[in-house]
Amino acid sequence: MSEIRKLANYINGQLCPPQGRRWLDVFEPASGQRFAECPDSDVGDIDVAVQAAQRAFPGWSATPIAQRAQFFNRIADLLEARLEEFAQAESRDSGKPVTLARRLDIPRAVSNLRFFAAAATQFSSEAHAMDGAAINYTLRQPLGAVACISPWNLPLYLFTWKIAPALATGNTVVAKPSEITPLTATMFAQVCIDAELPPGVLNIVHGSGASTGQALITHPGIKAISFTGSTRTGAAIAAVAAPRFVKLSLEMGGKNPTVVFADWEANEANWATLLRSAFANQGQICLCGSRILVQRSIYESFKCTLVEKTRALRVGDPQDPTSDLGALVSRAHFDKIMGHIALAREEGGKILCGGDAAAPEGRCAGGWFVAPTLIEGLGPGCRTNQEEIFGPVATLIPFDGDDEAVALANATNYGLAASVWTSNLTRAHRVAARLESGIVWINCWLKRDLRTPFGGVKQSGVGREGGVDALRFFTEAKNVCIDLE
Ligand code: NAD
Repeated sequence: MSEIRKLANYINGQLCPPQGRRWLDVFEPASGQRFAECPDSDVGDIDVAVQAAQRAFPGWSATPIAQRAQFFNRIADLLEARLEEFAQAESRDSGKPVTLARRLDIPRAVSNLRFFAAAATQFSSEAHAMDGAAINYTLRQPLGAVACISPWNLPLYLFTWKIAPALATGNTVVAKPSEITPLTATMFAQVCIDAELPPGVLNIVHGSGASTGQALITHPGIKAISFTGSTRTGAAIAAVAAPRFVKLSLEMGGKNPTVVFADWEANEANWATLLRSAFANQGQICLCGSRILVQRSIYESFKCTLVEKTRALRVGDPQDPTSDLGALVSRAHFDKIMGHIALAREEGGKILCGGDAAAPEGRCAGGWFVAPTLIEGLGPGCRTNQEEIFGPVATLIPFDGDDEAVALANATNYGLAASVWTSNLTRAHRVAARLESGIVWINCWLKRDLRTPFGGVKQSGVGREGGVDALRFFTEAKNVCIDLE
């Protein structure tokens, strides 16, 4: 058996073990084997990290923006030079196909750093002139030590998406990656050390939500919390942060509709995108379409083709470049997904394909794999169509016209993303405007321009990330009024 790797916290520029010497097991989802241990940090570790961030703040916030940006470009270069190593690690830690980590996760982490390095240098504020009576200008100043909490589904991608704008605007950060996928954040700490990022500017503290996360969100030195994860955890964080008036950004769950009109262009490229929108990363992307709404006139033929294409997806070893789907992230998540499939059956759903665990042979025999699953015959109000499943499971629901499509699409408590497939541009605009969703893709999915506002409505989120929205979140606006009379 290979050696169990011990991961470290990164506090005040140093890699260090947790003070309490408590550790959490880290598993490789593809094999079900334990391969590492990560710190289960507590109040003491968080306190040291917040103090380090507070000490680093005056110097970092006073560092010229262009110089701060240089650090991110250097870190991005070092990360890019180690792209393959990071992609392999991300795949091993999360179960995602290494091809996906190589194509999406790690390149996007590099882009996040470069994007916010550039964006911060272009960030400007407003002036408001009062007809010769006075002039106002707005200062946008960093907040201090802030918390960034990220989930397991896109580990380094979402971790860098948060820390980059926070740091680029002059804040210092205490970041808590998911305890389920701590590997690439630990490797990222070494990259920061290699890039000679000043001590305390970024601190990475590992551990469970209950121990480390709770200590972080309740620490009085934290000025803002940027969170991505489940709606349940988001609500718990809001309950703690709101009475203390801590600035809060919440990116949470989704139950996203994919709306397919009869006039959609059913070419191979569009089919491939539509399929990806349901099953990429084993359906574990907050933006995945898990309710596929199809206009009734094409429902049967669409269903036949979709089932055929879904059956053709290869579930297998994430290391194998021919695998379309890898493993689910953990045993607990596997059990949750299988529970949801059982529930769909109980609710009267018809399993069109999948519905079972998939069992690749060889080294992956003990892994947590589920066959991509399509279900029909369930009404919009049932639990299967209301609750976020966050796995390779999607339902098919027919609709007649635009009004019904919009009503079905909006019929959940979530409102993160939607995709609409139609060749009628007027309909596309009208439907997009009526969808209760933070993001609408027309005839595409997951096309991301990092300048655009990113986030959800209803129980999917509060606030927006991306571009200028992220820079604004991580700064406080101060109005200065100068009398001219
Ligand atoms: P989660 O809520 O269980 O955990 C997210 C992070 O919060 C982890 O680092 C966890 O340790 C931490 N945490 C848990 N309890 C905490 C507490 N009490 N205080 C502070 N931190 C705590 O979510 P998950 O299972 O890791 O991720 C999956 C969820 O994330 C899904 O619901 C998915 O839709 C959502 N997600 C949303 C987006 C988005 O942009 N809206 C993106 C990716 C994932």
